[in-house]
Amino acid sequence: MTTNAALKIAPLYNDQSYYWVDGCYGVGEATGLPILTHALHYGFAVFEGIRGYNGRSFALKDHLNRLILSAARLGLSSPYSVSELMTVVEKLEEASQLDQFYVRPLIWTGGKAMGISARKSDVHVAMVLWNWQDHFADIQKRGGLRMMISPHVRMSHQMAPVQAKSSFLYGPNVMSKTAAEKAGFDDALTLDHRGRIMEGTGANIFFVKDDSLLTPVPDYFLNGITRQRIMMLARKRGLQVYEQDLFVKDLCQMDEAFLTGTAYEVSPIQQIGDVRFKKQTIANQLRDDYLSHVEEKADE
Ligand code: PMP
Repeated sequence: MTTNAALKIAPLYNDQSYYWVDGCYGVGEATGLPILTHALHYGFAVFEGIRGYNGRSFALKDHLNRLILSAARLGLSSPYSVSELMTVVEKLEEASQLDQFYVRPLIWTGGKAMGISARKSDVHVAMVLWNWQDHFADIQKRGGLRMMISPHVRMSHQMAPVQAKSSFLYGPNVMSKTAAEKAGFDDALTLDHRGRIMEGTGANIFFVKDDSLLTPVPDYFLNGITRQRIMMLARKRGLQVYEQDLFVKDLCQMDEAFLTGTAYEVSPIQQIGDVRFKKQTIANQLRDDYLSHVEEKADE
């Protein structure tokens, strides 16, 4: 009785996507899932976000390694290896002929066994590539990100596998970002149960104080690939980089603040709650360094 047409989902950003699902390539809309999909009910999925510059994915191997590791942290074994998935991405890049793009790999539990346990679940893998549309250029033109402080506290590593890029961990982030946008902000800063500063909803955070970079310890959140590159680039510039506990009361002592991530690249912050940051000098220097770095390392 059910037709495939009824299960189709809307095209991503009204754009053509190039996809691969469980071994099959396709162009057009990424098709829908059966409603009785374990991951849809329990959030049991892991994913990645990869940017393509000049027709090539940046830090592809790092992202795919993290994808497989995230799956393993949930007890899921990927039916495809990192090198097989790299070949898939390369084929999608070639088929798309796009210069700037985004790739979303996804591993999820299917509909073979409904119920809480994933022990007997079938594991699926998909990769979708589509044209990159820069959401951050406008924010940059308006003088940088405006953030509120999220009321949703981040989970600790005792509560969840916080180093996995897992769908079920994103629920509070979705709520925080939605609440921020509804209140007229661009994003939200998340804190843990002790009030320590964590990160944005889809990016890590850095602060500049004098000639030093300060950033929270990645114990309850993802140690981003961009974050690690920025720390390396900052040290190359002669900046001291400190990973330490930071609190909301510390914000007013900071000269600058910025977010880092695959999508955000390096995005200066103009405001968090009531605190305004007057400068963006080092953030912009590191942004330029990062953009040169992605050009240089595009084949990595
Ligand atoms: N934290 C969260 C919650 C994220 O979604 C992301 C984006 N993947 C990051 C940090 C930054 O990670 P990366 O630099 O690897 O993109």
